[in-house]
Amino acid sequence: MLKDPTKVGKIWFDGKMVDAADANVHFLAHSLQYAGTVFEGERSYGGQLFKLRKHTERLFSGADVLGFSIPFSMDVIDRACQQVLKTNGLVDGYVRPAAWRGSDKVGLSPIGASVHVAIAAWDWPSYFSPGKKMEGIRLTHSHWRRPDPQTAPTQAKASGLYQICTMSKQIAEEQGFDDALMLDYRGLVAEATGANIFFVINGKLHTPIADCFLNGITRQTVIDIAGLRNIEVIERKIMPDEIATADEAFLTGTAAEITPIGSIGDIYLKPGRVCQQFISDYSELTSGRSESLKV
Ligand code: PMP
Repeated sequence: MLKDPTKVGKIWFDGKMVDAADANVHFLAHSLQYAGTVFEGERSYGGQLFKLRKHTERLFSGADVLGFSIPFSMDVIDRACQQVLKTNGLVDGYVRPAAWRGSDKVGLSPIGASVHVAIAAWDWPSYFSPGKKMEGIRLTHSHWRRPDPQTAPTQAKASGLYQICTMSKQIAEEQGFDDALMLDYRGLVAEATGANIFFVINGKLHTPIADCFLNGITRQTVIDIAGLRNIEVIERKIMPDEIATADEAFLTGTAAEITPIGSIGDIYLKPGRVCQQFISDYSELTSGRSESLKV
């Protein structure tokens, strides 16, 4: 059991396993000052990291978008993620790799800055409380909008993009909600603060086109499962006033897994058969139990 990964256990830091308390970064780190970290969130089920290579690939492509290269191979990072879990005695755990520019460059220009990678792991059984997960979480609307891809590197899982997500999440929780729905720069439905969104309308899945936010690995998995279940998936522009036409809705993400939504603003939804089907399929898939759902 690893409750506080900042104090207890081991962290992989630039190729070495160090005590968690020693895995520190100087406050002048370029990425801390200028929001240039890329990171991942991965889950292990029964000791196996689900879609590990896809997460590692996204970490590397994000670094590439931000203009730096990770000084390790993908194989090394994959092995390090597994090693961090094992060393900390975690079977079902959450793994957080991050790559950032160090403190050897203090100005705006990042050229020549060193690049660092660290990986921590901890217990994180459920992102939203299990009770809430059954009845459906409550979302409010965020007034922050996901930016135009020409304004920010929207396909990278980069820390700078999370500024508006953490602010939205804070306001939502302070007002008694679980999370917030964010629109994009055009006013279309985008996603929640750390998870993608799907609507069930007349037995079909409708989800926004991931053209200005993360095309989540769980989102892609849900689309694959829907294909195997012969459930049509329509990726399209979704206007906020269409939410009222949905029969069910759910969030998808590595941390959130499949989380049914009970309300969005003043629109109430009832988690039903389709949500339950995807929860159960996703759970079978991540546990490695399913033979028919290999996606
Ligand atoms: N959108 C945002 C903003 C996220 O932080 C996440 C979590 N990584 C997702 C979507 C879902 O991505 P994934 O399914 O790959 O975890």
